[in-house]
Amino acid sequence: MANHLFGQIRDRMPGRDAVFAALDAGRRYTYGDVLDVSARFANVFVDLGVKPGDRIAVQVEKSIEALMLYLAAVRAGAVFLPLNVAYTPAEIAYFTGDAEPAVFVCDPGKAGALGDVAAKAGAKLETLGVWHSPDVSAGTLSDRALAAPAVFDDVPRGPDDLAAILYTSGTTGRSKGAMLSHENLASNARVLAEAWRFTREDVLLHALPIFHTHGLFVATNTILFAGASMLFRPKFDADDVMRLLPQATALMGVPTFYTRLLQHPGLTREATAHMRLFVSGSAPLLAETHAEFERRTGHAILERYGMTETNMNASNPYEGPRVAGTVGSPLPGVEIRITDPASGAVLPQGEVGMIEVRGPNVFRGYWRMPEKTAEEMRADGFFITGDLGSFDEAGYLSISGRGKDLIITGGFNVYPKEVEAEIDLIEGVAESAVIGLPHKDFGEGVTAVVVLKPGAMMGEADVLAHLGTRLAKFKLPKRVIFADDLPRNTMGKVQKAAMRQAHAGLYD
Ligand code: AMP
Repeated sequence: MANHLFGQIRDRMPGRDAVFAALDAGRRYTYGDVLDVSARFANVFVDLGVKPGDRIAVQVEKSIEALMLYLAAVRAGAVFLPLNVAYTPAEIAYFTGDAEPAVFVCDPGKAGALGDVAAKAGAKLETLGVWHSPDVSAGTLSDRALAAPAVFDDVPRGPDDLAAILYTSGTTGRSKGAMLSHENLASNARVLAEAWRFTREDVLLHALPIFHTHGLFVATNTILFAGASMLFRPKFDADDVMRLLPQATALMGVPTFYTRLLQHPGLTREATAHMRLFVSGSAPLLAETHAEFERRTGHAILERYGMTETNMNASNPYEGPRVAGTVGSPLPGVEIRITDPASGAVLPQGEVGMIEVRGPNVFRGYWRMPEKTAEEMRADGFFITGDLGSFDEAGYLSISGRGKDLIITGGFNVYPKEVEAEIDLIEGVAESAVIGLPHKDFGEGVTAVVVLKPGAMMGEADVLAHLGTRLAKFKLPKRVIFADDLPRNTMGKVQKAAMRQAHAGLYD
């Protein structure tokens, strides 16, 4: 048996000298480097005692070496578990406690703060320094890899074996680990490379984080399956993107990328003339942004829809109309149906209901949460996404809301419950509600409405100071509003829709 995912990547690779990624300072990373460096890391993992099926948790800044850890984990038959770089040690402790990784890799500068967390979870702590960078001290894992052989016998893995676990925030406050198999990832990469016409000639401008499905799987696996190359950037910066666009053929971004680019005076027809494709996803792209981008550049942004648990489900067409405000039609091999959220009955075309998805892209369930998995899976294999939507007459899907109460800010998911729980711990707070309000730059801005106990005195800065040590930056409210009470319906439920309406113009 071959290694199902890496075997397909290997089969599609161009020659060893072909460029995989262009990095800063003129550094070129070839497909030969991809093979050699991922082999070195895979050897190190095996030396550290990693067995097939073991988890390898990673919280490191974006770098090409960090990306090689993903491929190395897959080659070693392990399960890759990337974690948002913004997570605090307290947040990390939950993930490592739940996933019990054999190895936990962090940035050299964070080893002190995370040593206990790793030890408690029974994981070996290793550090990853960015290679060839004089500013970054080499890490323990980097040192071991430099001394390890550059060849590795890939551990055999079948289509249903796990390749990765990506944590999604849980609606009840507990995060769930979405288990993704080799075929979940491979099937989606095959489909996307084909649907979006990626070839070896393509150069993707990669400015997304690599701890999330979008930058890690949609972007990187598509490039690997097409044998194409990337301009690999540490993060999104509008000036940086505008400077590099002339060397690229494609960009994948969250809607915030596009609103920021529209604010850049350099965004013109000429600056984007050689670009083949602009893709948007992870959050709704405003129809207004789509229209404005087309007016400025002549390019219709291709919007697609997916999620951590399912990879990509639907996409606007490469050829044919890309309709603003829709996410296109189901990708080849993916079935999407709209059901009545209460009864589960399939609804007629045109009606809004729960979006359900079935296909080789749909995950294997939540890590160690069989009851949660069962709650969100129908007996016939359809996954209940939690997103509400409808199909139009032409077969285009529109997403009209989120049943799961999720806030998406700058492409990141924030579950209100988690933020509310932290606010409610502050002395003097009676209760709170966290909502997402329309925000031109971030799509939605996290907003807290706080009710104080009688006699308590506190301002916005006090609330934010408390949350700053507890929550990742992207989860912090952009504004804190103080109120006398929260609006409730007769059943006692807080009426968030009414609150969103009352404060709709806050970020205008
Ligand atoms: P994540 O698991 O972080 O990728 O977040 C998935 C969620 O993002 C989905 O369930 C949707 O609610 C939302 N999402 C992704 N793509 C789109 C899109 N193109 N339009 C609207 N919402 C989207």
